[in-house]
Amino acid sequence: MKIETIFEKKKPVLSFEIFPPKKEAAIKNIDETLEALSILHPDYISVTFGAGGSCTNNLTVEIAKKIKHRYHIEPLVHLTCINHSREEICMILDQLKEADIQNILALRGDINPEIERKHDFEYASDLVKFIKENGDFSVGGACYPEIHMEARDEIEDILNLKKKVDNGAGYLISQLFFDNEVFYDFQNKAKIAGIQVPIEAGIMPVINKAQIEKMVSLCGASLPGKFSRMMQKYGNDKEALFDAGIAYAINQIVDLLAHDVDGIHIFTMNNPEVAKRICEGIKTLI
Ligand code: FAD
Repeated sequence: MKIETIFEKKKPVLSFEIFPPKKEAAIKNIDETLEALSILHPDYISVTFGAGGSCTNNLTVEIAKKIKHRYHIEPLVHLTCINHSREEICMILDQLKEADIQNILALRGDINPEIERKHDFEYASDLVKFIKENGDFSVGGACYPEIHMEARDEIEDILNLKKKVDNGAGYLISQLFFDNEVFYDFQNKAKIAGIQVPIEAGIMPVINKAQIEKMVSLCGASLPGKFSRMMQKYGNDKEALFDAGIAYAINQIVDLLAHDVDGIHIFTMNNPEVAKRICEGIKTLI
């Protein structure tokens, strides 16, 4: 089923994100992860895609096929474009059509000076348009409540986002954030800009200090005082941080649901225990 249709039928939508293992040998672990995630009955599971010709990209499609045909859950395939030619993207679209996979998250990908940049697609909005012209796909896009790192200002970023939607993105998934007020402010600005598609909130549960420091430096998420206090108190105690991080994510989600958010997208980090604990905490709410 197309994810746009899922949003029409059910709100809030609940989705999980996983990434392909770095080594093909680790594919067994992904089976265990999928098994555990599938019993939580998400509305869809998304699979990330390496930005540049990475060997895990074939795995993205393989894992999406498993999600669809073995677990009977809708897969969402992430697809990046700055390091790919039109022909390469067409090949991937053909693979998806053959596997009866209809959902693509169209992304530009991060610019990596070490990977050859191809110029058939400059922005995600170019990819959205191309996909819509080349198949019967439901296409989503990424959005950034705290502005994309390269954008000059938030007005420019939101106007660029509007182009992505005008080109056919039927829903958006947000970058992680730890301060819900930032998300609500972004939702209002997107609405003012005429963006009317559903916006799912991306939630990253904090369960590992090093991981979160890396993520925050990469995406520039602001840290509210209560988040910093949590890190200060529990950051060096693995088990306590796990409990505190799950509780923080649940609190964020409860508040988002109370604000009638369109959907919750959990970055599971391939850790089904994280998804399980969160789902237990919100089971009567979603
Ligand atoms: P775009 O929407 O193209 O935006 C990139 C920048 O260009 C922004 O600053 C924007 O304001 C600007 N811009 C856009 N259009 C125009 C225009 N027409 N003219 C001028 N400027 C413009 N990365 C991966 O490699 N693999 C993944 O699987 C992956 N999954 C992700 C999932 C989510 C939910 C999110 C939020 C991000 C994900 N990313 C992934 C990261 C993403 O690839 C990077 O954030 C990347 O830097 C931007 O991608 P985008 O699709 O948002 O780009």
